[in-house]
Amino acid sequence: MQHATPSSAYPVRPVVTSFAPYSPGLSLQEIRKAYQLSHVIKLASNENPLGASPLVQQSIAREAPVVFRYPRSGNPELIHELAKALGVDPARLIAGNGSDELIDLLLRVVGLPGENNVVLLEPSFSIYRMQAELSGLDVRRVPLNSDFSFPWRALEQNMDERTAFVFLTNPDNPSGHATSARRILRFAENLPEQALLVLDEAYIDFAEDPDSLSPLKHMEETDNLVLLRTFSKLYGLAGLRLGYGIMPPWLAELVQRIKLPFSVNILAEKAGIAALRDTVFRSMTRETVLDQRRELASRLTDLGCCVYPSQANFLMFQPPMDAQTLHRRLLEKGIIVRPLNSYGLSEYLRVSIGREDENLAFLDALQRIVADESEKTADSARNG
Ligand SMILES: *Cc1c(COP(=O)(O)O)cnc(C)c1O
Repeated sequence: MQHATPSSAYPVRPVVTSFAPYSPGLSLQEIRKAYQLSHVIKLASNENPLGASPLVQQSIAREAPVVFRYPRSGNPELIHELAKALGVDPARLIAGNGSDELIDLLLRVVGLPGENNVVLLEPSFSIYRMQAELSGLDVRRVPLNSDFSFPWRALEQNMDERTAFVFLTNPDNPSGHATSARRILRFAENLPEQALLVLDEAYIDFAEDPDSLSPLKHMEETDNLVLLRTFSKLYGLAGLRLGYGIMPPWLAELVQRIKLPFSVNILAEKAGIAALRDTVFRSMTRETVLDQRRELASRLTDLGCCVYPSQANFLMFQPPMDAQTLHRRLLEKGIIVRPLNSYGLSEYLRVSIGREDENLAFLDALQRIVADESEKTADSARNG
C-alpha cells in the first residue's frame, strides 16, 4: 500500500502532521473478523444496553422518505422541544453533531491561537485536548487526585488571565467519579473573569440523583457556564450523532453563527424529538443501568477487582491480574471491554454496564480467565 504522507511541497499545518487521532473502542465487526467469532458482546463504548427506543425507530422509518430535503438550519423544532423539556430559554440552546461537534465549535469561537490556554484534567476525555490543540490553544493538564476526585486547588492555580476554558466531566470518564452541583457552582464563581467552565454531562442521567449533581437549574444565575449533553448514551442514539449545549445566549449566538448549517441531519433531529418523548424507554434504561451497576460492582469486587465508585453507565476497575492480558483473553472469548492505555491508565479497564445476560457472560469469562491465570502462577511457583 502506498504511504499516505503528503509531499513536503504542500503547506500542511504542523499541528496536523503530528496529530494523533482519537482512539475509539474496538468495533463488533473488527473483533468478529479477527477472532472468527459469531457472537460478540460489546461493553466498550458506554452505549445504551437496551439499544434504540422503538419510538425512535418508528420515527426514523416514518421520516425516511423526507431525506432528500435539507434540514431546517438551527433545528428549531428540536430546540423548542429541548427548551420545553429542560425548562431553559431556547436562546441558550445549540444542537450539534454529537457533543463532540460542540466541543470543537466552542474552542474555535473563544480563545486566540497562541495566546489563550485551556485547563484540562489528566486523564480526561481526549477530544477536549485534541480540539484545543487543533485550535492553537495552549493546553494545561492538571492531574486528578489519586482517588480520581477533582483537584480544585490545583485547577485554580493553573488558571490565569489567559485561560479561555476549563473542561470538567461530571460524572467523570473513565472513573465514574461525580461531584456536587454546589461544588461546581462555587468553582465557577472563582473563575478568572474571561474564562468559561465547560461541564460535560454526557453521563448525568445515570447518577443516583442527577439534580444534586447538575447546575442546570442555576444556569440563569451564572454567566460563565456551558453544559454539554448528548443523545448518545441514555437515549441510545450514538450512531445518529446528536448532542446539545446550554450556554449564555451571547455564546450560543456565536456558535450558531460559525456552525455548518446542516450538521444535525433530518433523521437525527426527528429521532431526538421522539427520544425526548419516550419516557418509558428512558426510565427502563436508567433502571437497568442503576440496578446492573450495583450488581456488577459487587460481583467484580467479589472476584478480586478494585472497583471505583461510579455514577455513570460504566465501571472502572483494576483486575487481580495484568489488565492488558485480561483485555486480550476477554476478546478471545468475544467480550470487548475498554483498555485505558489511551488515558494513561494501563493497569485499569473500563466496562460499560450491559444487560443482565451480557454482564453475566462478562463475569463468567472474567472468573475463568482469572482462575486460569492464578493456576498458571501457582504452577510456575511450584516448578520454578
Ligand atoms: C460519550 C461521551 C460524550 C458523547 O459524545 P457524542 O459526540 O455526543 O457522542 C461526550 N463526552 C464524554 C466525556 C463522553 O464520554
